[in-house]
Amino acid sequence: MVAALDIQVTKVERSKLSEINLDNLPFGKYFTDHMLEAEYENGKWTNVEIKPYQPLLLDPSLAAIHYGQSIFEGIKAYKDAAGNAFIFRPYDNLKRFNLSALRMNMPEVPEEIFIEGMRRLIEVDKEWIPGKKEHSLYIRPFMFATDCMLGVRPSTTYKFLIILSPTGPYFPRPMKIRVEEKYTRAVKGGVGFAKNAGNYGGSLLAATEAQAEGYDQVLWTDAVEHKWLQEVGMMNVFFVLKDKVVTPSLEDGTILNGVTRNSVITVLKDMGADVEERPVHVNEIVAAHKTGELKEVFGTGTAATIAYVETLAYGKYEMNFSEKDWELSTEVKRRLTAIRDKELPDTNNWLFNI
Ligand SMILES: *Cc1c(COP(=O)(O)O)cnc(C)c1O
Repeated sequence: MVAALDIQVTKVERSKLSEINLDNLPFGKYFTDHMLEAEYENGKWTNVEIKPYQPLLLDPSLAAIHYGQSIFEGIKAYKDAAGNAFIFRPYDNLKRFNLSALRMNMPEVPEEIFIEGMRRLIEVDKEWIPGKKEHSLYIRPFMFATDCMLGVRPSTTYKFLIILSPTGPYFPRPMKIRVEEKYTRAVKGGVGFAKNAGNYGGSLLAATEAQAEGYDQVLWTDAVEHKWLQEVGMMNVFFVLKDKVVTPSLEDGTILNGVTRNSVITVLKDMGADVEERPVHVNEIVAAHKTGELKEVFGTGTAATIAYVETLAYGKYEMNFSEKDWELSTEVKRRLTAIRDKELPDTNNWLFNI
């Protein structure tokens, strides 16, 4: 841990916390009093500051807006019954952030800015961490290119920021999803594994069209055959079969290496489940449904932890599930929640104290 990180801290004169109803916190709507900002220039990070949350002043020729060098992360902090604050697996997000940075030809952010900066920022806005069950403080670190010049080349200057948003319980409705056969989110050799802004911009139309047909999200497939399953919106996907759990593997770089995905795999293995990370073909899932071997389908991600799938459609073929089916996913969710609530031991060192 680098103690010497020089962060200039400017605090607000008056907190806006009292204006916020902590019993009604829609996801990503309210932000805390402060933010962290750092600048990259001349090959190094400088001007690390914690300051009042405020708009940015940007030049219209800003490289990120025109050419898309922009990446982000999503992490959660919690407060335990005794009031101690902790962050869930922030080092995994740091690692992934820097993999995204490398792929997008951006500089890495060092641990002492990403982790220590995050820790200090949360310390300043500690009162904002909701203490109630299922509530959390959502942490959004992000970086974008700030060169002011039209010309397609990697920017030489960047900004790194962290903003914080208190969030209430996120109990997503069980999802209706359909296998996407027209659009593609990611290809081998592309940027699917990076949490870069453009991936989301490119996915919105598919989701909008699916919504017009009565679905919540699409299940992305490979670009060539539209048969190999990838992930659902901003979530990884799991299929519970009769005697095993399968989830698409990471090796071709088309899916996001979810921290929740990894936590779920770990918990499933602790429970003695047989988990297979490998390519998953849509025909295998349909065949398993026809024989009654497909028990559950669920998505995983930081926002929801686990989201149940109620309907999975492949063309005209619909696979339906209901509350009584969601056994394994409910147990995994219970265990993950219990680890965060410190009711189960944190054997994997997932909780990082602030
Ligand atoms: C962020 C994200 C996920 C989930 O990752 P977590 O680390 O579990 O939050 C899955 N898929 C995509 C495309 C994502 O952007």
